[in-house]
Amino acid sequence: MTGMLLKNIVITQNPGSDLQNFLSGKTYSKLAVLTDENTAALCYPLLKDFLPAHTLIKIQSGEEHKTLQTCSTIWQAMTDSRLDRHSVLIIIGGGVLDDMGGFCAATYKRGIDFITVPTTLLAQADASIGGKLGIDFNHFKNHIGVFQEPALNLIYSGFLKTLPSNELRSGFAEVIKHALISDKKLWNDIRSKELKDQPWEILVRKSVEFKHSVVLQDPHEKDFRKILNAGHTVGHALESFFLAKGNKILHGEAIAAGLIVEACLSMKRKLLDEPSLQQIGGYILKTFGKLSFRQDQLKEIAELCLQDKKNKGNSVLCVLPDGIGRAKWDVEISLGEIEDCLAYYSLLQT
Ligand code: NAD
Repeated sequence: MTGMLLKNIVITQNPGSDLQNFLSGKTYSKLAVLTDENTAALCYPLLKDFLPAHTLIKIQSGEEHKTLQTCSTIWQAMTDSRLDRHSVLIIIGGGVLDDMGGFCAATYKRGIDFITVPTTLLAQADASIGGKLGIDFNHFKNHIGVFQEPALNLIYSGFLKTLPSNELRSGFAEVIKHALISDKKLWNDIRSKELKDQPWEILVRKSVEFKHSVVLQDPHEKDFRKILNAGHTVGHALESFFLAKGNKILHGEAIAAGLIVEACLSMKRKLLDEPSLQQIGGYILKTFGKLSFRQDQLKEIAELCLQDKKNKGNSVLCVLPDGIGRAKWDVEISLGEIEDCLAYYSLLQT
């Protein structure tokens, strides 16, 4: 294996031969490969010739297909291919496929092995690490799911070459988040380059190492793992706000804006100095652009933060940067403070 990083995670430059080697050390009875139409056309061809006989299951891409109905289709295809309990499902795709395919494998015949081959930046740097699997249910995001680790998570940054630039940018928000909460030097390296010049293999490796170390310490998000929600309290509120207005924005755009607003909250709590806030805001705005909302909508957005899954009772609990490279979690924030920082964001110059 090119780079066995952690127990079941391999970062590689030779995904085909590494997959072949892994499979040759196993005695799986049958193999099925799960893709969507994009990864079937752009990623599966790089691996196909290294695989023994297998069934290809192809589903439609998109979050709107991360449903029980699509799971039915996948389980039916697994059943039609006569996969038994000693079979393996290889999932080649972004976070949607990782979450849903892993969930299907973890529940099929009470659980079979699965291998993830994440093909988006978001899936490589974030979604494929940490064992959270699941689907949306009646418009509730990630409502049904389980925790289960893949037998192998094979990460090849070469897949990112075909990723549309808006999807690359969306995943970049999570990479930035990891740097801001864990590694000041990494943040300085990132902000010295534009999106198109970033060294993806290095950034993915850093993200994987950090997220994995957090998850090892707190697999079920009782405490420390909450740190990974930086940018997400305000980010999710913005995502819901724009969705309700019929103006869907990318998850990463919302998280990027959330990181700025939460850095402002941090400055108000004297955890972050003003030059650091300006540095964070400046780079993120240059990379992601600015979301626009009106002053009379600030209250509506702030109130959406009350919906956050991580809250307790009626108070909003936030992750705030504690300087650059560290963060505090479970910090109680008032809606008024959130409104003030949304106002700060809305007045920033691009
Ligand atoms: P996605 O899986 O929808 O992929 C985005 C698009 O890129 C799709 O159209 C896909 O077909 C296409 N694509 C994938 N790889 C490609 C490639 N190499 N070249 C060209 N096109 C490619 O989106 P995503 O951003 O990867 O994942 C979002 C999902 O991840 C959400 O459902 C979210 O809930 C989940 N997620 C899960 C976790 C977790 O811990 N489990 C963490 C974060 C996000």
